[in-house]
Amino acid sequence: MTSSAYEKQIIGEIWTTDEPYRNLEHLTDVLGSRWAGSDSEHAAGEFLKAKLESYGLTNVQLQPVAFGAWTRGSEELEITSPVQKSFSIIALPYSKTGVFESELIDAGNGEEEDFAKLGDTIKGKIAIIAAETNAAGVRGKLLSHRTDKLRYAVDAGAAGLIYINQNPGFLRISGSVGSGQGGPSAIPAVGTSWEHGQAILRELRRQGRVTVKLTVGGEFNPDNVSYNVVGDIVGSKHPDQVIVFGGHYDGHDISQGALDDGAGAVVALETARVLAQLPAEAIGCTLRICLFCGEEVGLYGAWGNAKWYEEQGQVNNLRFVLNMDGAGSGKGGTERLTVHGRPELVPFFDQFIKDSHYKMRLTDELNSHSDHYPYAIRGVPTATISAPDDSSALVGRGWGHTEADTLDKAHLRGLQTSAMATARLLLAVSNAEDFPGSRKSKADMQAQLEELGLDIALKRNGKWDLVGGSDQ
Ligand SMILES: [Zn+2]
Repeated sequence: MTSSAYEKQIIGEIWTTDEPYRNLEHLTDVLGSRWAGSDSEHAAGEFLKAKLESYGLTNVQLQPVAFGAWTRGSEELEITSPVQKSFSIIALPYSKTGVFESELIDAGNGEEEDFAKLGDTIKGKIAIIAAETNAAGVRGKLLSHRTDKLRYAVDAGAAGLIYINQNPGFLRISGSVGSGQGGPSAIPAVGTSWEHGQAILRELRRQGRVTVKLTVGGEFNPDNVSYNVVGDIVGSKHPDQVIVFGGHYDGHDISQGALDDGAGAVVALETARVLAQLPAEAIGCTLRICLFCGEEVGLYGAWGNAKWYEEQGQVNNLRFVLNMDGAGSGKGGTERLTVHGRPELVPFFDQFIKDSHYKMRLTDELNSHSDHYPYAIRGVPTATISAPDDSSALVGRGWGHTEADTLDKAHLRGLQTSAMATARLLLAVSNAEDFPGSRKSKADMQAQLEELGLDIALKRNGKWDLVGGSDQ
């Protein structure tokens, strides 16, 4: 059979079943939020492992990853003076706990320049800012991630941080603020809805000066072990060269995590199902699915998996890593492929998109906030396939990281088109004898990270030593 005949088989197989939707329904309605370290997450790992076994993958296993888990406690926000009012908030996971009372200060978008403008006036105050809008490239610049904004606030001397969701709907925004080691954030951090956030800001403007009291609970379990789910479709030509693909299957404790990233996980699963059905000679390099645990709380699953390759001396065997965080979350046909700081891969994927007669947006941007990153900093070629729902008119994460990230937002068509695009793409990379990606040298990787300012967080979190390359 020719490769295009394999592609037709894949497309037909995906187009004639609702398997990925049923898997998503099981993950969300039956198993729940899949919050990192919870029974729900562990049950999801077992479910995904059983699925991979039933699809005929080999070496299917649960890979243990240890990290500190967190469970939600009490949470409250009141203006205590000069008026008394209370507002609806949620603690951001891994927030510092306690009762904190101090003056409130409006720090705008919470970008570095917003904090700089306030100077010393922010010291000791609880700052209120816009939650990340996270739309890279929109409005001509890269907007800061939640954890970057937290870092700016800590450096500026703020005593606490309140993030306002930028989408209306009374949806309190969540997102982990852990230290990177499973411990609490340096200052307390909470999320509120657009409406409550605006009400707080109006009160501040009316009064000129208000005092707020923030109560934040939460429990830490340092002994948690969660599991990545891995399995192989062994290559017939270059079995030692490995392409890792997959998305995280954990979600946020307040939601079903249907789009972020239940959808990406079931699209990866569907991709594995149809590729495993092809005859052995269809697959050149080994295709290895890895469904990650603990992404939402610090990419723990991916850090653990990448470390495993290092310990085995196998990082050089990684031809390519495809992160699927956000795949399948649109209504169908909105796929976007982002290569991460890899201009040399653009012509290859450009040609792939032309040859496959399936439109995908192709961009190049290295960012640090999902599961590709632990591989990328080791010099491995990586990309992310996502499928944003552009019709929703929501900014940033949309429903993501709120209670509204529920199964009713997912569409079978969206799961199917992402699975078809991914399966065809993996087949192409697996069989390319002239794949242009190769592992960078350590010095090149360090220079690239420094140029983008990504070295700052790596150094603070004790991860700069993990940066690596082909010359090690
Ligand atoms: Zn995600």
